[in-house]
Amino acid sequence: MHTAVWFQRNLRIDYNEALNWALHRAKLNQGKVALFYLHSPEDEAPWQRGAASSWWLQQSLSSLKSALSQQGLVLNIIKGGANEAIPNLLEQHNIDAISWQRNHEPHLFEHEEKLAEQLTQQGVTVNITNDSMLTHPNQLMTQKGTPYKVFTPFYRQLRKELHHINHDPTTPAAPNSIASMTLDCSQSLDTAGISVPHRWQQKLAEHHQPGEQHSQQLLLRFVTERLYDYPLNRDFPAIEATSVLAAPLHFGEISIRQVIALLQPIIEEGDPQHHQAAEVFLRQLIWREFARYILWHFPDTTEQSMNKRFDASLWAYDEERLRRWQRGETGVVLIDAGMKQLWQTGTMHNRVRMLVASYLTKNLAQPWQLGARWFWETLVDADLANNSMGWQWVAGTGVDAAPYFRIFNPETQAKKFDPDNLYQQRWNNADPQPEALVDLGDSRREALHRYQENRKRNSLQ
Ligand SMILES: Cc1cc2nc3c(=O)[nH]c(=O)nc-3n(C[C@H](O)[C@H](O)[C@H](O)COP(=O)(O)OP(=O)(O)OC[C@H]3O[C@@H](n4cnc5c(N)ncnc54)[C@H](O)[C@@H]3O)c2cc1C
Repeated sequence: MHTAVWFQRNLRIDYNEALNWALHRAKLNQGKVALFYLHSPEDEAPWQRGAASSWWLQQSLSSLKSALSQQGLVLNIIKGGANEAIPNLLEQHNIDAISWQRNHEPHLFEHEEKLAEQLTQQGVTVNITNDSMLTHPNQLMTQKGTPYKVFTPFYRQLRKELHHINHDPTTPAAPNSIASMTLDCSQSLDTAGISVPHRWQQKLAEHHQPGEQHSQQLLLRFVTERLYDYPLNRDFPAIEATSVLAAPLHFGEISIRQVIALLQPIIEEGDPQHHQAAEVFLRQLIWREFARYILWHFPDTTEQSMNKRFDASLWAYDEERLRRWQRGETGVVLIDAGMKQLWQTGTMHNRVRMLVASYLTKNLAQPWQLGARWFWETLVDADLANNSMGWQWVAGTGVDAAPYFRIFNPETQAKKFDPDNLYQQRWNNADPQPEALVDLGDSRREALHRYQENRKRNSLQ
């Protein structure tokens, strides 16, 4: 009997528990493996991938396909809803076991749960791994047994447990000796519908190289060349100081556990500055973990404000304002530079993400959900957990959020974090500066007033 691996957001060979489990089992049983990626926009609804991250997916799949084929393994691309396509293909190809890496987004997890139940009832062995996170989201709880809503205590507890977390390398055992199957329903990436408009292809390819091999190089470059100065430089958007691992981590081209395994010796044995830098970086990775944890426990936070005291009356949709923000035509130099960086490259520096989000939700009074949707469409690293948490944090409506009265002033921030104008010049290029969409001072005062009124109204209820 044979074993299947359903590749989802673990588009890698190394440190891939689901793949490793299947290869071991196939070897033991002298069976074959069937490796497949399922393209299933209907299961992804209402969060079907945006254009930029679809491009990354397409490139990453084609890179994985060729890396596997160098090991003598076939990656099949198939199309359909998981709950029908997967049981059918297992039955048709005599497959009695399957493994996959768990998704934590509620709408995807729901399909997986149903599928696991259905397959188990049919006598299929189901092995679900948890290697896109460091812990299971039900593992860390407050003393009252409720989920954490505040980052720092969550961070402290996870930090204490970190050395217990298994991050042994799980490089597959001699895949060449195992035969893999070409499935009848296998298609090309194009015919399966994993394609993106040409203009996205062109512009994104100038800035990124998806795939496990390149992501491994980025990880190594970060640890050897950038980590040391990360705490010092990470807030300056003109400096290439961060890891740029968001998309590789989202698509699982590298495993979060491998990243931790690389940091661990630096934390334990590095000189004080290295140690401190590794801790600062680790904290960011734990924000990523926290975002997944929050989404798991509070699934409606992709659409609704987590803190219900902030209701929809805080914002008023205005088509023109949204459009000018999206195009980088607000007249605020740093905001426009950030939005143009996003449009041209599918990414944006973290500090600038905070600033453009604050400007949209506070100065322009637009709902955070509209900003989150635009990021979802245009970021190569669009990630439901990180994006929802990021937007709610800035809008002041989320967990452990920035207080509502913190309204960044993009001009002051520009002086502090882009003092030589390098970032702003680079992305605004020679574009003429448009007239300011709103006055920064007035719109700040209006926002404060709205938030205060809203708060008063809702805490009185
Ligand atoms: C409004 C807003 C929206 C965001 N949307 C996304 C998104 O869709 N996808 C995404 O991956 N990140 C998102 N972030 C978080 C952060 O901006 C990016 O992860 C970071 O800029 C990626 O660059 P890097 O890989 O070089 O980061 P580094 O500084 O090198 O950090 C390493 C890794 O830690 C994680 N990380 C870092 N900062 C955060 C954070 N604040 N929250 C959660 N994880 C973090 C990421 O996985 C990142 O790759 C958002 C932040 C904001 C304020």
